[in-house]
Amino acid sequence: MGILIFCLTLLLSVGHYHNYIHLRMNTYHDMLNVIKNIYLLELVVKSERQLTSLSALLDKTDIENGQSAINHTWPIVHKIKMEADHYIYFYNAQTGNIDSYPEWKRPDDFDPVTRPWYALIEQPTDKPSWIGPYPEFGSDKPVISLGQTIVSTDGRTLGVLLVDMSLDSIHCVMERVSGGLDVAIFMRSKENNEMISVINEQLLKIEHIIPNDNSVALSGLTQGALILYSLPYLPWEIGLYIPAHRFRQAFMNELVIQVLPVTAITLITFLGILFLLKIFYQELRLVEKEVRRLGKAAQPHSVALPFSSWFVEKSLKALNKKHQSQYQTLRRDPLTRVLNRRAFDQDKKVLLTTNQSYALILIDIDHFKHINDSWGHQFGDTVLCRIAELIASVVGEDHTYRIGGDEFACIVPADVEHLESTLNKIQHCASHQQWRETECPITLSMGAAMGPDEPTTLFQQADAALYQSKHMGRNCWHLSADQADNQTPQ
Ligand code: GH3
Ligand code: MG
Repeated sequence: MGILIFCLTLLLSVGHYHNYIHLRMNTYHDMLNVIKNIYLLELVVKSERQLTSLSALLDKTDIENGQSAINHTWPIVHKIKMEADHYIYFYNAQTGNIDSYPEWKRPDDFDPVTRPWYALIEQPTDKPSWIGPYPEFGSDKPVISLGQTIVSTDGRTLGVLLVDMSLDSIHCVMERVSGGLDVAIFMRSKENNEMISVINEQLLKIEHIIPNDNSVALSGLTQGALILYSLPYLPWEIGLYIPAHRFRQAFMNELVIQVLPVTAITLITFLGILFLLKIFYQELRLVEKEVRRLGKAAQPHSVALPFSSWFVEKSLKALNKKHQSQYQTLRRDPLTRVLNRRAFDQDKKVLLTTNQSYALILIDIDHFKHINDSWGHQFGDTVLCRIAELIASVVGEDHTYRIGGDEFACIVPADVEHLESTLNKIQHCASHQQWRETECPITLSMGAAMGPDEPTTLFQQADAALYQSKHMGRNCWHLSADQADNQTPQ
């Protein structure tokens, strides 16, 4: 599931990245179009207009006569172009003079024949032609010129009229449009790829790159992207190169924005589920352990419950409470509500572990069968309940057990005097009970034994003493043979 979410988010990021690159590329195309169709075109058109106006206003007769070509329009046209540091000049092919505005002092070593624009004398053209870039004489600054061959009415070449266009202005335009972005913008000659102007040259790595490639989102990650436009009005082309690191950065941004948060949420959810599962299994083990313990437990906990859990603590406590109440119910005789044979056996085992001395009294109702037969089973039940109540009032409820049909047992402290007084008290109470159904008293036979002996032995001794009481005519008590010295049968 996590992997699926990761893959989907990755796909989403790739989609977003693709759209982002598409938008950015459109912006770069717009940028180049602005340079190409507005700024550069303006410069070119201005220069061409300037040249056309100047050419129309030239006085060819004066030129033929070897006079200066400069007239009153040159300063005005120069000013209109608003481009500082540029020259308007005319080379007179007949005299070899150069008329320049602003004025330019021709150095001695200046040879017009070596200048690139001299080609317009050798191969005249009737349209303005762009020449350069070439190093400016004296300063070696790259410069381009727009020139036109001037011919006389009879077709003779009079000279060349030229206006400069500073490369600085082109550079400024490109720099302004690039806005400080870390992309390279350049202008180069279509003919020999010679660079005319470059912004951020250090970024430029355009060998082997297919220009205007549509699948730049992918290829851009390794080699960057190149947009190249041919200028229709100049023998140049203008290009923009976006380096690979910009694509990688865009891709990483998409990853950080989308994949990382989703991955983090998925991871947190996954860890949360793991944590909950861990708690769940831990709680399950706690319940299993407690259920096993309750199943095995002879006696429920009376100490504080050791539960410390997230969810099941309350349920475990309720379970324990229920177990405790059921345990108590199991230890009670449903008829007489005193402790039963099960409780008697359990408590005997506990006594065995404590190694304490105690006395065991066994009590049996005399001729109970006869009572049942004479006054009915229901009355027999009432007798059982009253006798149980009577014994409990003497020895305490927690020490009174009904261990058979009409047979009771008591576990009391191992003190002969106390034991005898208890036996006498029970017997006295029983014989003085008032019965609504019969005037005939209901009597008890009892046998007792005490000592640190093993419970089974003590039980046998007490049983033997009870048998002796029955044998001696009932309605009496006997101590076992070991305590026979102290025996005081009634
Ligand atoms: P003994 O003096 O020798 O003890 O004579 P007994 O008649 O009491 O004989 P025994 O103790 O053996 O008789 C027990 C009788 O108790 C037998 C049975 O019918 C009766 N009994 C056992 N459980 C119940 C009970 O829950 N209710 C009633 N009403 N009678 C019971
Ligand atoms: Mg009996």
